[in-house]
Amino acid sequence: AAGGPPPDPAEAARVLRSVFGYDTFRGEQREIIEHVIGGGDALVLMPTGGGKSLCYQIPALVRPGVGVVVSPLIALMQDQVDALRALGLRAGFLNSTQGPDERHIVEDAFLAGEIDLLYLAPERLKLEATRRLLDRGRISLFAIDEAHCVAQWGHDFRPDYLELSTLHERWPDVPRIALTATATPATHAEIAQRLKLEDARHFVASFDRPNIQYRIVPKDGPQRQLLDFIRAEHAGDAGIVYCLSRASVEKTAEFLSANGVPAVPYHAGLDNRVRAENQSRFLREDGLVVVATIAFGMGIDKPDVRFVAHLDLPKSVEGYYQETGRAGRDGLPSTAWMAYGLADVVQQRKLIQTSPGDEAHRRRLNQHLDAMLALCETVECRRAGLLAYFGQEAGECGNCDTCLTPPESWDGTVAAQKVLSAVYRLQHERRQRFGAGHIIDILLGKHTPKIDENGHDSLKVFGVGADLRDRDWSAVIRQLVAQGLLDVEPAYNTLGLTPASAEVLRGERKVPLRRDPERAARTRSARTA
Ligand code: ADP
Repeated sequence: AAGGPPPDPAEAARVLRSVFGYDTFRGEQREIIEHVIGGGDALVLMPTGGGKSLCYQIPALVRPGVGVVVSPLIALMQDQVDALRALGLRAGFLNSTQGPDERHIVEDAFLAGEIDLLYLAPERLKLEATRRLLDRGRISLFAIDEAHCVAQWGHDFRPDYLELSTLHERWPDVPRIALTATATPATHAEIAQRLKLEDARHFVASFDRPNIQYRIVPKDGPQRQLLDFIRAEHAGDAGIVYCLSRASVEKTAEFLSANGVPAVPYHAGLDNRVRAENQSRFLREDGLVVVATIAFGMGIDKPDVRFVAHLDLPKSVEGYYQETGRAGRDGLPSTAWMAYGLADVVQQRKLIQTSPGDEAHRRRLNQHLDAMLALCETVECRRAGLLAYFGQEAGECGNCDTCLTPPESWDGTVAAQKVLSAVYRLQHERRQRFGAGHIIDILLGKHTPKIDENGHDSLKVFGVGADLRDRDWSAVIRQLVAQGLLDVEPAYNTLGLTPASAEVLRGERKVPLRRDPERAARTRSARTA
């Protein structure tokens, strides 16, 4: 990297103003940018909306040569490049969606130094042909976006990212900056190790998004709950609603539209044209709701998304944080709202049990899910729980549901014993397994046809649960499954005991449970607030 005077860090402020039109740096942007301009390596952990892009874009403009940006978001490269061109920057991309002609134009521009930024998909960078191309040009820096994709223990592992460890050997003089918006302490360490960034400077911003209010409500007719929530608090606002399946995406979008909330669906099964149209309408129009699978949102920069709603449970806290993080990038008050119930726990456990891969992989998925469930079932500040997951300490926030209406915790040991002994008696006395609904009917002492046919009214546990209501039992069972004290058989959703259940039945283990706040009370207080 010889020739010319060394790049001047003071240039950064000038570029910020003249190219991007901003007066001041945000957070640690200045330190990061000056460090990279000076040729240093950096690992940047910064939440969504924190302003990661400028951290490599400005050094790429100030340092001589072309900034090479590695990104897994192939579908968004065109948009990113268009957005940069609109700012007057020169940018191009290389990925598998291009024909040879298009590729050659970009390659020539790179070699001639006629672009500032070159976006590359990781599978491109792996190719020796691409590496030879890079050798023949001048590279100002490598930016590795979505760097958590290199972590095998993370939630979004991409094998092609592992190859990025060799960048430093091949181009030792080119500074590298890796960036991510989600990293637990373990993932952070793994990124540093796999990308050989142990000696880089690490910039870790607070992951707190104070303008986002986190709320998780017991699921009880989710579409209606969603509609009530939007009407009461976000009428006319732009929002994202996440659902697990394409079918529920379609149904929910139709339901909202039919009830006066303009909504469009987005999932991988839609025709490309329709999908692109719905995405651009969401970006362009005011107050549109997009109902989507998790295929939607990565890299979408719409500052005024006022709410993100989950009708199904995310698989991990990282996923939840990333998805909810798409709300309120402009810093204005926004809501992360989720409806969560027993069926979610059952469904996610089932998906894991039937997922391909080895035992270690399933164990990892279960750990991710357990952390997510703990966040759902907590009686403490949700924000503090979320930040603790990312290794950051925080006091009670005063702006999440558990702070605003603190749920009680109660000793659910006896209730748990009732449920577990019902399951035990069915399993061992009758050699039968049933789902949650039937177990609850037995505990409540109901004479349903299924109970009468099976003679379940003669079970010792029949009617022992009259002290609680149907929905209370449902909450108990949900938490037992969440705590691993009941397990779900994937084919028929029936409940069975786990090794840990025996400790509860023998009275050796206490079962603390959360009492869900009453729905009616919550709605009233929300109206009077
Ligand atoms: P991230 O990639 O971390 O999610 P972005 O780089 O997309 O965040 O930045 C989020 C938004 O903040 C963008 O609209 C960006 O233009 C804006 N932004 C970034 N840095 C600054 C700054 N220093 N001053 C004002 N706005 C900024």
